[in-house]
Amino acid sequence: MPLKMHAAVVEQFGKPLELREQNIPSPGPGQILVKTEACGVCHTDLHAMHGDWPVKPTLPFIPGHEAIGLVAAVGSGVTIVKEGDRVGVPWLYSACGHCEYCLTGWETVCAQAQFGGYTVNGGFAEYLLADPNFVAHIPAGLTAMEAAPLICAGITTYKGLKQTEARPGEWIAISGAGGLGHLAIQYAKAMGLLVCAIDIDDGKLAHATRLGADFVINAKTGDPAIAVKKATGGGAHGVLITAPSLIAFKQGVGMTRKRGTCVLVGLPPGEFPVPLFDVVANCITIRGSFVGSRQDMAEALAFAVGGKVKADIELQPLSAINQIFERLEHGDVPSRVVLDFAPAKTKSQESAADRQLATAGSGATKAL
Ligand code: NAD
Ligand code: ZN
Ligand code: ZN
Repeated sequence: MPLKMHAAVVEQFGKPLELREQNIPSPGPGQILVKTEACGVCHTDLHAMHGDWPVKPTLPFIPGHEAIGLVAAVGSGVTIVKEGDRVGVPWLYSACGHCEYCLTGWETVCAQAQFGGYTVNGGFAEYLLADPNFVAHIPAGLTAMEAAPLICAGITTYKGLKQTEARPGEWIAISGAGGLGHLAIQYAKAMGLLVCAIDIDDGKLAHATRLGADFVINAKTGDPAIAVKKATGGGAHGVLITAPSLIAFKQGVGMTRKRGTCVLVGLPPGEFPVPLFDVVANCITIRGSFVGSRQDMAEALAFAVGGKVKADIELQPLSAINQIFERLEHGDVPSRVVLDFAPAKTKSQESAADRQLATAGSGATKAL
């Protein structure tokens, strides 16, 4: 009899996830099996569940692309990781490694790329498969729970900020202060930028101020583009739009300073109007940004090891996934929910188990 695991599965778009037992997958050649310790819940998982985007996942599927866990088994030919290593299984699950994009550090746009929790099963499960060439290597200074949000929300905002090309001392406007945004504020401060945070929720804005935002604006109380222009003396040099709301995109372009760059990261379904004359006459750049490369991942994690960035997390069990989605949909998640796959364990038990797995060698597979 094959061994079973608990998983949360999208059976139909727009319907609650099914919590069920299914077979633990076994790693084929070049693959690894990861025993999940923690998995962050990203708004992208909600888009995936709704089937919001033009390219939809094939049903049924297991979402989750902020999974951190221990390597439980390795397939033949795997040398880059070993059993017991702590790894992250991110959105960029794999890519071809040979195309012009892979060769130039843009593996995120490889035509062969697979996406965790979308085109392949993800981390809302006790075990998941991964490509060892694309896992994040979690530094010793970070726990699984702390690391989880960094491997999507962290890398995406860090890369997006770099893509604005804003320099230390310049203004960045960050639209959306939720899962992505609360990390973006911290990365931006660590990068020496002045931060203007925009949201529609006063609680999120109060938190943005605690995280170091120099100026906050509630987009519900007026035109945030006018408010940003006033606060920054002519507009932000860089704008990062994380809000999953189309209106925020039009407003974000309006916040951009002459010759500034507006980076689009949020992914609400649909299109938004671009005021052509303003963009052309003010020499504004509008740029999409999609997660980040493996090198961006290492850099994004290093900020956290250095104590400059820390995700605010709320731990929940896998069984709460449908209530979490409901709250995320209504903007009721303060920063990031992380699914904790060992809620009953005490810290000392956890580290004892980790040590056991880490030293178990090939024996770890038998524990499955
Ligand atoms: P979240 O729900 O945690 O946070 C969204 C925040 O936006 C909330 O604080 C909400 O109050 C705020 N908001 C909503 N409407 C707004 C508006 N009109 N103006 C300003 N703020 C507004 O979501 P998240 O996990 O941070 O994800 C955000 C978006 O980023 C999603 O669309 C997700 O799919 C996308 N995403 C993109 C990438 C990428 O690589 N480009 C990676 C991860 C997530
Ligand atoms: Zn994500
Ligand atoms: Zn490629």
